Amino acid sequence: MTWSHWQVPPFTTSVFFVLGVLTLYWVTYNWIISWTHTHRINVSDNVINTWYGLLYMVVFVFSMQSLIVGQSDAWQFMNFELIAITFCAYFLEIRVPYVLLVPIMLVYMVFDGSLGYWQSWAHAVTLFAFFVVLNIGHTTFQKFKHAFVPYLLTTVVFGGLLWFWMMLKFNFSWTTLWQEWLYLVIFETLLYIYVSMLSHDTALKLRLAKFASHDALTKTGNFAAYTEDIEYLFKHYGQTGRALSMMMFDIDHFKHINDTYGHAIGDEVLREVSATVQTVLTANDPRVKFYRTGGEEFNILFPGYDVDATKTIVDQIFTAINHLEVQSDEGVIKLSVSVGVSAITTDDKAPMDFYNRVDRNLYHSKRHGRMQITIA
Ligand code: GH3
Ligand code: MG
Ligand code: MG
Repeated sequence: MTWSHWQVPPFTTSVFFVLGVLTLYWVTYNWIISWTHTHRINVSDNVINTWYGLLYMVVFVFSMQSLIVGQSDAWQFMNFELIAITFCAYFLEIRVPYVLLVPIMLVYMVFDGSLGYWQSWAHAVTLFAFFVVLNIGHTTFQKFKHAFVPYLLTTVVFGGLLWFWMMLKFNFSWTTLWQEWLYLVIFETLLYIYVSMLSHDTALKLRLAKFASHDALTKTGNFAAYTEDIEYLFKHYGQTGRALSMMMFDIDHFKHINDTYGHAIGDEVLREVSATVQTVLTANDPRVKFYRTGGEEFNILFPGYDVDATKTIVDQIFTAINHLEVQSDEGVIKLSVSVGVSAITTDDKAPMDFYNRVDRNLYHSKRHGRMQITIA
């Protein structure tokens, strides 16, 4: 196989070309996502998915078409373009307002020189409907046992109609239409299989990542997540001086609860305490992060908060837990917690210095009768 003698049949080349374009999207998208996560850029994955997906596909469609624009067989790349549209609308489920598609299509028609053909207008309207049906279809079709069937039917019906308009415009034969239509159906099927395999892998990785950073019992961040976050926030403090405070609390006489009511009820107490704290945090500021760092010991990081700002939320948490009543067969369990709070200072040379001070404050609360807050 050389540059001038490319022995691989066009169909095989096309399949690998389509898969290559999608893989490149996947790899770059994942790179952007992990880049925004490590730099803690406050933009949701969905927004990136929508705008990067749209941009990638628009660039792809326009650059492909620019190779053949104005030629008598300027329909050659239509199947690739339909695959790109299916990918955006169905698999990425991008959520752009549909009116935005109108200027994109108009620009495309100007660029393609097809504004003066009624067949192109029919094609554009069909394409718009195709996008909308696929886009809405994703969620609807998932309710069926075999989502693939309505997906394929949609692409067969719309694909056939779109190729029909092109046949009328470019006067190619029925044979060409059948052939291209069949290719489209094969491509759409391969696309479905390929994306299903990729997303299965992604879903698995997401689950593993969640396991690695979350505590299974209480759904809070775990010790590993705490360590990663404190290291990042500590470094950030060194670079920018942005305030940071920490609250640690430990349930009082928890061993007694376990011994009296059983381990299962002890677990239930941990779940209810966590849910209560999370409710307070969500209502105040979702940026504040909550971790279970030991058996019945928890840690909360307040990025951007000094001690005064933290105190309001600490008081709410303290009151909420002290009023919490957990039901058990042997009666209602009353709880209390001991708390330590502190803010980071320039004297802290490592995250551990900061942590130890909060820990000392917590044990000060324990030694002085429990159910109290020590701030220093
Ligand atoms: P203090 O007021 O001094 O904090 O006393 P305490 O009894 O709360 O503290 P201690 O450290 O003596 O006991 C903590 C207990 O927490 C011992 C351990 O068995 C229990 N524990 C740790 N993890 C879990 C868990 O996941 N579930 C349950 N049910 N108990 C746990
Ligand atoms: Mg305890
Ligand atoms: Mg403890």
